[in-house]
Amino acid sequence: MRSCLIAGNWKMNGSLQSVTDLVEGIKAGDHGKAELVVCPPAVFLLKVGGMLADSDIALGAQNVCDQAAGAYTGEVSAAMLLECGCRYAIVGHSERRSLYTETDALVAARFAMAVESGLTPILCVGETLDQREQGVTESVVATQLDAVIDVAGVEGLKRCVIAYEPVWAIGTGQVATPEQAQAVHAFIRQRLAQHDADMAQRVQILYGGSMNPSNAAELLAQTDIDGGLIGGASLKAADFLAIAQSA
Ligand code: PEP
Repeated sequence: MRSCLIAGNWKMNGSLQSVTDLVEGIKAGDHGKAELVVCPPAVFLLKVGGMLADSDIALGAQNVCDQAAGAYTGEVSAAMLLECGCRYAIVGHSERRSLYTETDALVAARFAMAVESGLTPILCVGETLDQREQGVTESVVATQLDAVIDVAGVEGLKRCVIAYEPVWAIGTGQVATPEQAQAVHAFIRQRLAQHDADMAQRVQILYGGSMNPSNAAELLAQTDIDGGLIGGASLKAADFLAIAQSA
């Protein structure tokens, strides 16, 4: 039985004060049976990690460097993230892929470094609107998954979370229907089952893209949707908790 994981991706938002208020709000509320992860901007990880130390809420980073240490200006290593208290790291978010031209190969290398270091990567996959309209959603998602399997192997997949995030639904308010999301989640699980049926049944597959308190319950009720990766709605403690409670 897979548990429900609700992860908040705060992206490049907030200040020391607003992040503190947000963490206090989340800690003070009820998140039901869902597991919670928050992914603040890197500069706030140490602060938020300290605030979460006495809670059951996990800390995640929004990315992780594919290299262990050295001359990689602007990057943050897995060891540094672990020192801040991170358990998770998002890799391959569509904003990283499209705005910062992260390729499938780089995403796979970041994923492998996370796994090797003991972080759980939250691997984001998903198609653009053009790709959906061309009917190539499954092949796009399969290519993104295969790139990671080629580098990290099936063993790597055993220690990850996958987030299906249709690019056209991220930050647009245009959420995938429960049927559209379930179809791709089922496809991902079948694809993984070709490598290892047991791993495919165990891996948590989150949906991400304009999930909010009013559409979460229906999405989270789908057989293969095991949680959510939440952007905008994770910036308000009440909304984030309401999504978790609807699981
Ligand atoms: C995201 O960025 O991962 C995301 C799902 O954003 P939003 O919920 O705002 O669509």
